[in-house]
Amino acid sequence: MSAFHWRCSATCGHARAGMLKTAHGDVPTPTFMPVGTAGTVKAMTMDSVRSTGAGIVLGNTYHLMLRPGADRVAALGGLHKMMDWPGPILTDSGGFQVMSLGALRKLDQDGVTFQSHIDGSKHRLTPEISTQIQHKLDATITMAFDECPALPATPENLRKSMELSMRWAARSREAFVQRDGYGQFGIVQGGTERDLREYSVRALADIGFEGYAIGGLAVGEGQALMFETLDYTAPLLPPDRARYLMGVGTPDDLLGAVERGVDMFDCVMPTRAGRTARAYTERGTLNLRNARHANDTRPLSPDCDCLACARHSRAYLHHLFRADEILGPMLLTWHNLAYYQRLMRTIRAAIIADDLPETARALRAGWASEDWTPDEMPYPDLS
Ligand SMILES: [Zn+2]
Repeated sequence: MSAFHWRCSATCGHARAGMLKTAHGDVPTPTFMPVGTAGTVKAMTMDSVRSTGAGIVLGNTYHLMLRPGADRVAALGGLHKMMDWPGPILTDSGGFQVMSLGALRKLDQDGVTFQSHIDGSKHRLTPEISTQIQHKLDATITMAFDECPALPATPENLRKSMELSMRWAARSREAFVQRDGYGQFGIVQGGTERDLREYSVRALADIGFEGYAIGGLAVGEGQALMFETLDYTAPLLPPDRARYLMGVGTPDDLLGAVERGVDMFDCVMPTRAGRTARAYTERGTLNLRNARHANDTRPLSPDCDCLACARHSRAYLHHLFRADEILGPMLLTWHNLAYYQRLMRTIRAAIIADDLPETARALRAGWASEDWTPDEMPYPDLS
């Protein structure tokens, strides 16, 4: 067993293609991590997740500590065994979910006390407790416990919050149990303030982590400000470690972030959209509830080999959603995850071929187009 590490294999501009080496397998980057909130990627079997080409999935500490509980997960053999995912798993620290509980949580310098959204019971998370819970879950990648302030926030509040997160990062590192092939990521904070981001990167690099995440973005600041923040934050990060942009995003967000030097992503968008009849494709997004799909015998996407596209028509998917059949969300989640993985593979191949700008132009032109066979359009919109 070797140490956890990330190796760069090719660059194109600021974009990087690489390989993440872990105790639970290797992951080519850039990579998108499907979100397995409570020990399941909603509406998917793990075989179907695997079939999309996903190499690593995410679990949520907040949800798992409340239900079924970290000790129970450990007794069941850890998260990998419990959910049938022998590959790498990254767990978040619980910080983001706890901070978004609003009135149900109380923050102090040592940690956060909060009430469960399930039964109102009281719980506490500190950097030490969060790190111990992630150890019990057997996370391949443990995240440092941090505070994520909502934007907009005053520079003074952002500074205080970032400084607290950096103290918590040092405590998280102290509590982390080093094991071969396992790693811990620190999280850069500082909102959209350049000097705070620079301070945060330096503080984390001084502590030293196996990888670095950029947190506190995609919380309402908009894509332009997010990209601007990445423009000055990503180049400061240690070049030989993986970079993870948390909670992002749309296909266009992912492409723009890879162009700025990010390697890893997670987001509920493809899974949540799949449950609400929204499909991501090479030609933009489709709402399968829309009546124009009612008689459409074409697959969602001619370029997709997922089960929804290989076996079913848009008309059938439309029917499933109109009839509230559970197969609708299952098939569309599958398709969306397959699309996100295909997008990552396309981007990675373009970096290796050193033609990312051309591939990026083609991807963006596709997303901006109306649908994938304009000569067969328009369909009568009966909705
Ligand atoms: Zn598909």
